[in-house]
Amino acid sequence: MKKVVLLTGASSGIGNQTARLLAEKGYKVYAAARRTEKLEELKSFGIKPIHLDVSNENSIVNAVESIMKTENRIDILINNAGFGTYGALEDVSIETARYQYEVNVFGVARLIQLVLPSMRKNKYGKIINITSGGGRFATPYGSWYHSSKFALEGLSDSLRNEVKQFGIDVVIIEPGAIESEFAHIALDSMVKNADKSAYKEAITRTVDANKKMVHNASKPIVISKLILKGIESKNPKTRYA
Ligand code: NDP
Repeated sequence: MKKVVLLTGASSGIGNQTARLLAEKGYKVYAAARRTEKLEELKSFGIKPIHLDVSNENSIVNAVESIMKTENRIDILINNAGFGTYGALEDVSIETARYQYEVNVFGVARLIQLVLPSMRKNKYGKIINITSGGGRFATPYGSWYHSSKFALEGLSDSLRNEVKQFGIDVVIIEPGAIESEFAHIALDSMVKNADKSAYKEAITRTVDANKKMVHNASKPIVISKLILKGIESKNPKTRYA
């Protein structure tokens, strides 16, 4: 029987590439995102598009319930949806920071809560959490993004030891710089938050340095292959970078 995968953030970058790779390898992939129009082209690979806003409780519940209704199982959850809000800690509103955590931490945790009963019942499960190299080291003007990814690392390490007894693996993937929409969203937020900032000069230098890094970014497939390794290994490493 084909393993059933729920993959978030499939409308772009790493998620989009991963959906294609897993479908090619014979997995039944439910590819989730808010911009479902960007998932349409995945249908030709046998991938099932599904609407999901990971910051919204109803959307999360509906997505999981609709897969469970059709498949009666979710074997693999790939928590890939995420983004970076950048700017000086002093300048980013707490409301914006909370939203960063809703997407990068709470949405992930909620999805995990909802898929665990099926995984425990089947004594099989793979939970793949995409954090970041920035989930282990932090750079200036990225406190909210970095701390959200540090949180996801801690959550994953703790969870791994809770669910091992049920045959469930928790694997962390830590990308470096990857070609996708991510860097553009991150740099735009940094520029926007620098506008009236006391840190403007330093932030402008940081933005310029990061633009150079974007040019040297790797292709998303590099990370998709690490995700596949995490899924297919009988004894996966705790983290792949
Ligand atoms: P992209 O910006 O290209 O893709 C991000 C995906 O997340 C999109 O499909 C987007 O879909 C989805 N997403 C964002 N917000 C939400 C939301 N509220 N609900 C549901 N989906 C959402 O970036 P990447 O592919 O690069 O990023 C994938 C992961 O890799 C992220 O977790 C990121 O933090 C991590 N990462 C990326 C790095 C890089 O350099 N690219 C480096 C380190 C880590 P939609 O907008 O359609 O909902």
